[in-house]
Amino acid sequence: MTGTDSAPPFVKLLTIIKVIPCLADPNKIRFSAEFDRDVSEIFPYLNTVLQGAIYNHSGRTLTIRKEGRLITLYPATVSAAKIDDVHDAHEVISWLIKLINECHLKRATIKPSFERRDCLQVIDIVRLLPGTNCKKCDQPTCLAFAALIAAEKVSVMGCGEILLAENQEKRKELFALLRAGGYSIPEAFG
Ligand code: SF4
Repeated sequence: MTGTDSAPPFVKLLTIIKVIPCLADPNKIRFSAEFDRDVSEIFPYLNTVLQGAIYNHSGRTLTIRKEGRLITLYPATVSAAKIDDVHDAHEVISWLIKLINECHLKRATIKPSFERRDCLQVIDIVRLLPGTNCKKCDQPTCLAFAALIAAEKVSVMGCGEILLAENQEKRKELFALLRAGGYSIPEAFG
């Protein structure tokens, strides 16, 4: 038997600390959860293993899509959106712990990747824009503007409407998503 066989799992606990309605989809929830340790050392390995992961090495975040769900890993926490319900949240947590522990066990055989290997999808962004299609950003629709943000052709600040008080919650979530994905956010919102 090797030391690895009897080694304790890298992550044992991921505890839900907050459940709130999902701004991107009113029929779903989002949740925050806390790891029992800093897991950021495994991000470059997950970035290699997972399809469509968005890794921000300097920001120490990794965003994963799982069947429509959007899951952002920070060093000690997770933020997940578009989750069906609390039962689904627990399934996502079990999946994440298993994924991280398996990746940690196999890390000697995985070449870590420190690059951002994918971009956010338009659908991830548009649901957090104001949705009025007011054209003040010089685009015909919020969808068109979201496509330009995803492709890093415009700054999110081209949408002045997102700064309105009524869009505060969407703005917070959108900026957190963009920041985690390695997109540039003005200093004042950093
Ligand atoms: S300014 Fe903002 S709310 Fe108006 S169309 Fe552009 S993205 Fe949508």
